[in-house]
Amino acid sequence: MQDHKTIYFKDYLPSPYSVVSCALEFIIEESSTRVENIMEIKRCDPNAKELRLDGEMLDLELIWVNDILYCEEMYTKTEEALILPLDCNSARIRIINRIYPDQNTALEGLYRSGGIWCTQNEPEGFRRITYFIDRPDVMAKFTTKIIANKETCPVLLSNGNLRGTATLENGKHMSLWEDPIPKPCYLFALVAGDLGSITDTFITMSGKKVDLAIYCDRGNENKCHHAMRSLKKSMEWDEYTYGCEYDLEVYNIVAVDSFNMGAMENKGLNIFNSHYVLADEETATDTDFMGIESVIAHEYFHNWTGNRITCRNWFELTLKEGLTVFRDQSFSADMNSELTQRLDDVRALRERQFVEDAGPTSHPIKPDHYMEINNFYTATVYEKGAEVIRMMHTLLGRERFRTAMDRYFENFDGQAVGTEEFLWAMETQSPVDLTQFKRWYSQERTPTLRISVQYRPDSAELVMKIIQNVPKNAQNKEQLPYAMPFKMALLAPDGSEYPLISDDITLLHENVLWIENQIHEICFKEISQPPRLSLNRGFSAPVIIECDTIDYPFLMANERDGFVRFEAAHRFGIETLESMMAGNAVNEHYIESYGAMLCDPTVDPMFKSQILELPTITTLMQRQEIIDVAAIVKVQEELKRVIARRYFTELQTMINALFDPSNVLIDGESMGKRALKNRLLGLVMSLDEESIRYLCIRQYRESLSMSDRLSALDLLENYAPNDVGEALNDFYSRYKDQTLVMNKYFGVCASSRREGTLGRVWALQNDPAYDPKVPNLVRALIGSFARNPVAFYEVSGEGFRFVADKVIEIDALNPQIASGLAGAFKNYGKLSVLQKAQMAMELERIKNHPDLSNNVFEIITKILEAE
Ligand code: ZN
Repeated sequence: MQDHKTIYFKDYLPSPYSVVSCALEFIIEESSTRVENIMEIKRCDPNAKELRLDGEMLDLELIWVNDILYCEEMYTKTEEALILPLDCNSARIRIINRIYPDQNTALEGLYRSGGIWCTQNEPEGFRRITYFIDRPDVMAKFTTKIIANKETCPVLLSNGNLRGTATLENGKHMSLWEDPIPKPCYLFALVAGDLGSITDTFITMSGKKVDLAIYCDRGNENKCHHAMRSLKKSMEWDEYTYGCEYDLEVYNIVAVDSFNMGAMENKGLNIFNSHYVLADEETATDTDFMGIESVIAHEYFHNWTGNRITCRNWFELTLKEGLTVFRDQSFSADMNSELTQRLDDVRALRERQFVEDAGPTSHPIKPDHYMEINNFYTATVYEKGAEVIRMMHTLLGRERFRTAMDRYFENFDGQAVGTEEFLWAMETQSPVDLTQFKRWYSQERTPTLRISVQYRPDSAELVMKIIQNVPKNAQNKEQLPYAMPFKMALLAPDGSEYPLISDDITLLHENVLWIENQIHEICFKEISQPPRLSLNRGFSAPVIIECDTIDYPFLMANERDGFVRFEAAHRFGIETLESMMAGNAVNEHYIESYGAMLCDPTVDPMFKSQILELPTITTLMQRQEIIDVAAIVKVQEELKRVIARRYFTELQTMINALFDPSNVLIDGESMGKRALKNRLLGLVMSLDEESIRYLCIRQYRESLSMSDRLSALDLLENYAPNDVGEALNDFYSRYKDQTLVMNKYFGVCASSRREGTLGRVWALQNDPAYDPKVPNLVRALIGSFARNPVAFYEVSGEGFRFVADKVIEIDALNPQIASGLAGAFKNYGKLSVLQKAQMAMELERIKNHPDLSNNVFEIITKILEAE
């Protein structure tokens, strides 16, 4: 049994020693790799007497301190560290150790993906390569010499600039890399293998030339061009928007198939999950193309927010992640449609982060304790972190925000800092004191704003009252109100805005209120008629709004703020479905408003596809006291059929007009039209209509774009059990050798609402294309199943049992992927008595499994403790 210990922010102490430089030499052989590590150590705390180096799963061979070879009695070695007596102000330590990349299934440290040697060191993987002070506030200058067989490893890459190459004896060769900029070891990277590549160049704003290259498995080079274009756009955008210029001679990206996350921002050598690099029209969906653009940008932007200015410790993770997500979201908004981007981001936030924040694993964006830091690469730290930055952007306005960012870069470049330093920079430009705002960093859960209004015709005033409710945290402690910018408008009957006139000093600028108190009252003057409310425009604050006096049909028809217009449709949809669940008839007004939106030719197709999406199962589940998936699915399908029948002719006409199977362009308009057509096709497929099924089959067969082909396949899977077999066979035989496309195949099968999904998922585990060691495949097959509410919550409890088996099985290979899967049990506290008993058994079974990782243990105990 492992001892599962908790690490606290309050215990943070600066490191007593630092590493000035680290010269590494890797000799890569077929079955193992020899690592030589020469470090210059400096003592920072004059009282320190003992140097502790982190190291796990390393075969230590030799160690020298100041050129004296140490024997075993002269140091202490544990499972996790090497401890050396060291009572001097500087020392040179030389270590030789051996590692076994082929046996590394956790994919941390140096491992093999396909035939390629690659690394992943964030957050604590470097200690699996060699002994080091593995913490982000220890920043060293790295040089890396790589020696490997020239034929099997023609490509040898590491961070920084290439300083030399040589051919050696015995068919070997070597490369020497030097990174001139000190960095924490989590940003170290190495790649060796036989790879193809595409290259390009970028001239920075000061005229320096940067060589760009994207490496991938041979044969996939032609799928890298979208990624390369995205990289160049990102480099240009960061110069234009933040004045941030790239700082090395080369920028390399390597795509690998086995990767725990999306991608990694290693200095000058990003390593990517191939899903976020490789794309062409035949094999990638529109969403995939958008994802690549944003992840390439995200990792590139880390060069300034993450690498040059890094985190003092892992509690500060949101310093780099929240900020960098905010930056990549702004970039995507500038490259594409601002509104569409915002709606996608808010949708993702509410579907994932709000759920996390309401559940047993909720935590502040800056947590103050953790058992396993890998469990904190969450929607909260990333996406809610980005919302917190966005609130400051709204508060300061574009120009002052940029000035504050300049301050941040000027003051902290080259350092490891915390969110306090970032907030200091923001505070220099803020119109209000940020003390209370900082609670967003230390508190958790989503606040609710209950809003009511009173109109006074005699004085032409509107009094608005906002009551903020902040739930207790996961430890059941009371929490205090948050400060936030709240963007709003009061609308006249023609949709125009009343100017907001008030004596209240909380009115900032551009219709933004600054809310701080638990109860906030504000009086607006010169409002000649009772106005319609337009609240939380642009989703200016990440909160839940409750208000009984919102005119949904009016806002859907007249509101100019796209977010509020969308939100009206969304909320109206929720209320309609919930009323149906309570046994009422379908609300006619909703059907009419929906139809008006559907038939409005002036609405942008992408926006239309977003606004016409019915509230998801997750959205509705989230609002239920006791989860009842079947009830949700029933009314959802019924509502679809009502809409489809009512507007059948219009829908058919529109679908036919949008049907354009040979269009594979990925401009906004083409993507918007595809998204809209597939949304509408989904509506009519709910009717059991021969002609529609035929249309869907035709779309499957004739479409040249993967977006269209995959949408058709998914609809056939869910609505046409008699026809889907043939399409699935066709899809399989076309793409069985392309692992990225097989992910989609497994995803469609495992997300199916058809009966028998568990049985088919079970069988697919034996498919030659499936491999439990490849995270993408596990996420596609097992992860999709665990996120499939219909199959997972199926009454027999077999869904729970299957996922529990997989958590245990995969934990032995890859704890990070297993703990991600364990999150599927997060709704434990909201189940019926019967289902709860079923799930409890599985949770206990996992918890009591011997040799459980910290990763899974932490998640499972939190879930069990919550109820
Ligand atoms: Zn990141």
